Amino acid sequence: MSGPTIQELLDRNERLSTWFRPAKFFSEISTPRSPKILMVSCLDPRSQPEEIFGLQFAEALSFRNLGGRVASVHDDIVGLDSLLRFEHVIIIHHTDCALLHYTSDQVREGVRKLPGVTAEEAESLVLPNFSSLEDSVREDMEHLKKSKVIRPELKEAIKGFVFDIKTGLIKQVE
Ligand SMILES: [Zn+2]
Repeated sequence: MSGPTIQELLDRNERLSTWFRPAKFFSEISTPRSPKILMVSCLDPRSQPEEIFGLQFAEALSFRNLGGRVASVHDDIVGLDSLLRFEHVIIIHHTDCALLHYTSDQVREGVRKLPGVTAEEAESLVLPNFSSLEDSVREDMEHLKKSKVIRPELKEAIKGFVFDIKTGLIKQVE
């Protein structure tokens, strides 16, 4: 199955204008209420936080990346929290994640074969990896808790979960 072409996407966007409701600029909101929940989860379409938690518009902010690993979004979390003062950080990894099927070494090997890429360049890539879902969630909670620039109150509010893509249920990792 191939996805839509760029032209099809542009056509869809044009049709959007017939029903799109304009969002408000910050300057148009009299009492700004920022989301107090921050989520980090995998970009896999089978694991969407909005769907998992039935989130309404602006109830939470989500970072999504390969595996839902926190290392690559640490600085963004710190920066955003200094502005928004989150009350909860939720890390979600999911069953059958691609990271359970490919190791970072396999990915690195693929990159190393690209024309013009040196072994050092491939070696220097920071690639996510994990072999156990619960352990990866624990590692990520630890990663944030060890940070010197994350507020102690926020560290207390970090929770980790595994999402089961077969049952739709979420299980907390202690
Ligand atoms: Zn995944």
